[in-house]
Amino acid sequence: MNLILLGAPGAGKGTQAERIAEKHGMVQLSTGEMLRAAVKAGSEIGMKAKSVMEAGGLVSDEIVIGIISERIDQPDCANGFILDGFPRTLPQAAALETLLDSKGKTLDAVIEIKVDDTALVERITGRFSCAKCGVGYHDTFKPTSTAGVCDKCGSTEFVRRADDNEETVKNRLMSYYRETAPLTGYYFAKDRLKGVDGMADIGEVTNQIEAILS
Ligand code: ADP
Ligand code: ADP
Ligand code: ZN
Repeated sequence: MNLILLGAPGAGKGTQAERIAEKHGMVQLSTGEMLRAAVKAGSEIGMKAKSVMEAGGLVSDEIVIGIISERIDQPDCANGFILDGFPRTLPQAAALETLLDSKGKTLDAVIEIKVDDTALVERITGRFSCAKCGVGYHDTFKPTSTAGVCDKCGSTEFVRRADDNEETVKNRLMSYYRETAPLTGYYFAKDRLKGVDGMADIGEVTNQIEAILS
């Protein structure tokens, strides 16, 4: 099974992708994570992406399509993948279609996680993750069970993303409405789009997604 999770920055794509992937033995493909890893490694792609990401803009279609194309060829993707943060523009969606066709893969569902704009800023500014295993948390909505200790791996080090500040969030929202929001129309017109209420709590959103998948 291959899925796309659509939604504004902070809607809960990563959180849900992590849960669904674990449950179904699928892989989570986050272009944001891959780009952050490239920035950290100082690769050529990372150097091109860094300033754009810091400003809350979108990295070029060419770069992200290249990354995804290589990644879905890896053997671990054969069991199914969840695209989290890709596609983000109409050209990326068109390229994905061509790519999947050429590799003999199918797209089984496109699920939009719908969240009010006012909630997005709160979700993003409270977001942090484990520095060791990468699992995501929120100061208010998903704190660690024991303060300062990762539930999953026991690490005591956490990180916050450089672009998760209120000013950059506004730019990211702007990029979302300008470039990414049209994708819901694109997939609706292809009879692919399903929506879930992303304002519900984390477990309830997972249940809604599971209901669509079953
Ligand atoms: P995205 O990948 O769409 O940017 P995340 O999955 O990283 O979003 O979620 C953003 C923040 O909001 C995280 O800190 C996460 O723990 C929290 N979060 C995710 N889903 C919910 C929810 N349904 N209710 C409250 N907080 C949530
Ligand atoms: P969020 O889910 O909070 O929006 P991501 O981790 O998905 O954040 O993305 C972080 C940043 O990486 C984006 O703001 C953008 O600059 C870049 N990025 C990620 N995916 C793409 C993509 N498919 N196309 C262009 N830029 C991307
Ligand atoms: Zn951890």
